[in-house]
Amino acid sequence: MRAKIEYTKGYRWPDSRVVFISNAEATESGLRRVKVECDCGTIFLAYTSSLQKGSAKSCGCLAKELSSERLTKRLTKHGMCNHWAYSRWEGMIQRCESMNHKSFKCYERKQIGICFSWRSNFANFAKWLEEQGMTALSDFEIHRKDSSEGYYPDNCVCLTKTEHRDIEHARMKNLRAERKELWLLKGEKR
Ligand SMILES: [Zn+2]
Repeated sequence: MRAKIEYTKGYRWPDSRVVFISNAEATESGLRRVKVECDCGTIFLAYTSSLQKGSAKSCGCLAKELSSERLTKRLTKHGMCNHWAYSRWEGMIQRCESMNHKSFKCYERKQIGICFSWRSNFANFAKWLEEQGMTALSDFEIHRKDSSEGYYPDNCVCLTKTEHRDIEHARMKNLRAERKELWLLKGEKR
């Protein structure tokens, strides 16, 4: 049997995000465990064998980042105009920026913009859609939660066409009611 390695507090396993805090109770089957802290701040229990072999390099945050990076790379590498979401991206840009688009006046007046990340890189936009669970087969429209705000992840949500239409109808109805109230206040007739 190999001699038990004693780690000191703050010891970092090579090429990992993990540092040693203290020894922890072994599992019932006798596997040695230690309490460690990941660079992201997460404290967790890990098997020393996984740490030594290098199969555990973080609390899981590293794997998440890598898979997100891979997705971006895959989207960037492939012929982007062939991507199912490409026409959606173009449509969004046209609504906001093309003077010929029927909605442009309305968008310009409200100054609806697109966040830098989506506007500058189609892959970022496509990635967001995929993260929302959207595929080429999804029936959806992008709804801006706050209609006076532009296109950016926190303000957008993917809704089915029916859901979207219902929300927009309700919104118009409220808007009309608000205007009516305003006219009444101003004493104007309509
Ligand atoms: Zn972490």
